[in-house]
Amino acid sequence: MLLADKVCIITGAASQRGIGRATARLFSQHGGRVVIVDLDDGQAKAAAADLGEGHLGFACDVTDKQSCLDAAERVVGELGRIDVLVNNAGITQPLKIMDIQPDNYDAVLDVNLRGTLYMSQAVIPQMREQHSGSIVCMSSVSAQRGGGIFGGPHYSAAKGGVLGLAKAMARELGPDTVRVNSITPGLIQTDITGGKLTDELKVEIAKGIPLGRLGVADDVANACLFLASDLSSYITGAVIDVNGGMLI
Ligand code: NAD
Repeated sequence: MLLADKVCIITGAASQRGIGRATARLFSQHGGRVVIVDLDDGQAKAAAADLGEGHLGFACDVTDKQSCLDAAERVVGELGRIDVLVNNAGITQPLKIMDIQPDNYDAVLDVNLRGTLYMSQAVIPQMREQHSGSIVCMSSVSAQRGGGIFGGPHYSAAKGGVLGLAKAMARELGPDTVRVNSITPGLIQTDITGGKLTDELKVEIAKGIPLGRLGVADDVANACLFLASDLSSYITGAVIDVNGGMLI
C-alpha cells in the first residue's frame, strides 16, 4: 500500500484507455483516495465510481484557472488534504510547422502547459501548509526529440515547457518538501494514438524501440506511482523516460 490514505488528484483521467485512468486504478489499488477530474462531469464521476468507494470524480477544465481553484477547494473540503497531483490532461494535433494557426497553438499550449501551471497553483498552498506533496507532470518524448508521429511542433513546445516549468517548481518548492517531477512517455497505446495505429505501423515503430514493443498506459502509471509515493522521497526535478529505450 504505497499510497495509503493519500489524496491524489489526477487530471484528464476519465478516458477509458488513457494514462490518467490507468494511474487512477493503480493509485486506488495502493490505498490512495483518488480524485478524477476531466472535462465531462458524468464521465469523471463514472470513472471514479468504477474505482469503488471513497473516490471522487467531477468536471474541471485545466485551462480555466477558476475551475482549477474550485477543484482544489472541493477536494480539501471533502477529503481534507491534497498529497499528490498528476498533471496528466493533454491534447495533441498532428500538424506541420507552417500549418499551425494561432488557434492551434493556443489550444495545445493551453491544455498541456497552462493547465499544468493552473492546476499546480491550485494545490500548492495546501501542499505547503501540509509541508508535503508530490506533483507529477506529464511531458512527452516529443519534447526531447522534437516531435513524433502524432504530435506537432506546438505539442513539442508545450511538452518542453512542461519540463522547464516542473524543474522551476521543484527548485522553488523543495524547501516546503513538495516534490515535482516529470515523466516523458514514448509511444503509448491510448485514445490519443490508438485509432491511428495500424498493425503494420506498430510493427514498424517497434523495430526502432530497443524493448521491441509500444508502451501501454500501465507502463506510465507505474512510473507515476513511484513518483507519487515515498519511494521517491529524495527525488525532485527529475525526468523519467518511459519509452522502451527509444532515445538510446
Ligand atoms: P487521452 O486522450 O486518453 O487522455 C487525455 C485526457 O485529457 C482526456 O480524458 C481528455 O478529456 C482530458 N482533457 C483534455 N483537455 C482537458 C482539459 N482542458 N481539462 C481537463 N481534462 C482535459 O490521452 P493519453 O494518451 O492518456 O494522454 C495522457 C497524457 O500523456 C497527455 O498529457 C499526453 O500528452 C501524454 N502523452 C501521451 C503519449 C501517448 O503516446 N499516448 C505519449 C507522451 C505523452
